[in-house]
Order: sequence, then structure tokens, then C-alpha cells
Amino acid sequence: MGLKVVKFGGSSVADAIQIKKTRDIIQTDPARRFVVVSAPGKRFDTDNKVTDLLYLLKTHLEQNAPFEQVFQVIKDRFSAMESDLGVDAGITEEFSAIEHKLTSGEGISADYIASRGEYLNAKIIAAFLGFDFIDAADVIKFSEKGKFLPDDTNIAIAKALKEHAHAVIPGFYGARPDGRIKTFSRGGSDITGALVAQATGADVYENWTDVSGFLMADPRIVKNARGISAISYMELRELSYMGASVLHENAIFPARTAGIPINIRNTNRPDDPGTIITADAAPKDNSIITGIAGNKDFTVIAIYKNMLSTEVGFIKRILSILEDYDVSIEHIPSGIDTVSVVIASKYLEGVLEDIVDDIERKTQADSVEVFEDMALIATVGSRMASVPGVSARLFTALYEAGVNIRMIDQGSSEMNIIVGVENKDFETAIRAIYGAFVDAG
Ligand code: ASP
Repeated sequence: MGLKVVKFGGSSVADAIQIKKTRDIIQTDPARRFVVVSAPGKRFDTDNKVTDLLYLLKTHLEQNAPFEQVFQVIKDRFSAMESDLGVDAGITEEFSAIEHKLTSGEGISADYIASRGEYLNAKIIAAFLGFDFIDAADVIKFSEKGKFLPDDTNIAIAKALKEHAHAVIPGFYGARPDGRIKTFSRGGSDITGALVAQATGADVYENWTDVSGFLMADPRIVKNARGISAISYMELRELSYMGASVLHENAIFPARTAGIPINIRNTNRPDDPGTIITADAAPKDNSIITGIAGNKDFTVIAIYKNMLSTEVGFIKRILSILEDYDVSIEHIPSGIDTVSVVIASKYLEGVLEDIVDDIERKTQADSVEVFEDMALIATVGSRMASVPGVSARLFTALYEAGVNIRMIDQGSSEMNIIVGVENKDFETAIRAIYGAFVDAG
């Protein structure tokens, strides 16, 4: 029998109805032995995620505002799940212990409070499945200063899980050597799942959520966008970086290191195969591109200087100016006598003019032009490099859609082509590219 590590996201474990679906999924495959869970997420659009309520609780405590009401809402939510599932997971006692900590003036950290969503949910789900409960505080290791320790964690998980045939592990958090809780960044249960998969040498890491994997484009822009059946880690990095988000980006590394495929699945449609992420996946339908993603609101600073290509240290001077202003750069497309820097506009508020002045002065550029309200669109696909005429097809599609291309940047791996267009053309451009490569076959 193989081993599958399964992670269920917040919406998959939001209430008793959802948790019953996860049990059915687990029971249909005996290899699904180690289960990582998020805190309960939203049950409906206007609902609250438990983690958000826990952070709200912390804010009340910090401001010495009455916290009892928020506390009660959280407690009621877990108590209802416990009774709806007909289990005794000791939720009443757990809440008495948490309340005691909150009121004893022990100096409770935000991380401790936030982690309770996963902790309590894992307790309930372990009781419901009849699996052992393993506290992430014992196996996910952070240093005294709060730095994640991958090697120590790997050893601790492998050792602990060797003793258990079936276990539920809360996602999102771990602990420092003195036991103080430390969380990953938001959405971090994905990372816990990947770490458990890595340490146990799982055959696959199944990440169960509320969508049937990745789509080739944002469905709010492209109606009925096709699903991506298979994608490589590298392609996914490119797409996630440009805004396609289903999986926490730090979850990819442990799985990739251990060569474990990640399968994104839908708890509400368990028969859908979802998206499989591996080292060198090729989409099953042989399409040239794998996906399109993008973001709005960038600013391009274009710097022109005659004979720039022969000048030593020119780009370095520009980068050090941006570093002085603590501004990070997205891309640096360049031509013979031009260099552009592409920056998320939010970093430039209040400093754009000063930066442009500095660049003009320190580089003695012939001219510096600023293009605001730009969007970047990445067309990603590892097969693009081997198929001639891909860029011609892309640019023709944009031209025919009346989209003005302000910038082009092709990664050296030829796995993606990034175009800069005006914000107002963002949606039209994505639909045009999709039409050229997907609808047209
Ligand atoms: N519950 C945490 C969050 O909402 C972590 C997670 O669900 O992955 O960010």
C-alpha cells in the first residue's frame, strides 16, 4: 500500500457537512493515512474564517476591549462541529484552558491565538476519523528567533509518524525550542502538508480545496477557462508569481526537493482529477501554452542613454537608487540604448518623482520616461520554446484586439513571455491570448 498525504483547506473543513466529505475521500483510498488540516474557513460568502476571528480576538485583547463575544463565537463554532459530528474531542476543556491563558496575563502571542484554529480542528477531525492526533508544535521546528528549521522538522516528522498508521496534524504552525508557537504566513497549512509529504516520502501530496485545480486563465476574465491537467513546478512558480493563487508558494519547495507530485483536488467534486504538479509535466491535451496570469498596477520607468550598452555599471547605479528607496523590482527589460524597470506602483507612492530625479542625475541619462497604470501578463508554457512562431501568434492576437504593447520581456528559459499593456487593456489582452492559443487549438 502506498502513502498519500492529504491536506484539506479551510473551506473543506468549514463545518460538519464538509468534514464528512473529507472522511468519504479518506475512506475511499487506504493510502490516505496522514491528514493535514486548516482551520475552519468560510461556510458561505459572507461568513468569517476562524483564523480571521482569532486575529480579531487578539486585537481585542491588545486594546483591552471586551473579548468575550468574539471568544464565544469561536467557541460556539467548534462546539457545534463537535456535536454535529457526534464526537467528544474535549472542546469544552480546550476552551477553558485557552480562556485561562488569555485571562491569566501570561502574555499570549498572536501566533499562539491564531494557531488554535488548526489545533482544535485537527482534534475534532482526528476524533471523527478515529486517527491519532499529532500536535504540529512537536514536529514543525522553528529556531529561538522564529526561523523555520527544515532539517530538524524533517527528522522530527519522520520519527513521530513512524509510530502511527493514521494521523491528523494541524497545519500552519510549529514551535520554537521553548515551546512558544510560531505560525507560517497566511495560507501556511499548504506548507505543513508539503513538509509531511517530504518527511514521510509520500507517493503524492494531495491538496484538497474548493476548486478542481488550476485554470488556464482567471475565470472572471475568460468564461469557462479550461482546467490545467498537468503543470511543472517551474511553470507554476511563474503563474503563481503573476497572480494565479491556489497553493502557498512555499509549499512547492519541499515537494519538489523530494520529487513528490502535488495533486490539487476539489473536496466538493472528488471525482475531478484536478491538476497534477510535477518536475516536468506536459499538459495532456498537448496545448502549447500552459496558462496565462497577470496583474495590474505597475509603473515602468524607461531610461534612454546613447551608447548605454558600452557603459559599465549603468544598471547597477539604477538598482542602487531603487534600493535606497527600498523599492523592489519586478522586471528589467532592456534594449541596446534603453533599460526599463518595472515596479509595482504601490511601492512608488510619494517617492516616484524623487526616484526619477535621482536616476536622471546619477546616470546622466538622455531621458527618463514614466509609464503608469500598466499591467503585466505572463503567458507560460514549457513547450513554447520548441514551437516556432509562438511570439508572432501572441503579438498578432494582441494587435488584432487593438491592444498596444508597451513592453516585452521573455525569460531566458523561453518558458514565458511577459507583455506590458495599459491597465485598461488587461482583460482584453488576456482574452485575446487565450483565444489565440486555446480556443484556436
Ligand atoms: N488558517 C490559516 C489561514 O487562514 C492557514 C491556512 O488555512 O492555511 O491563513
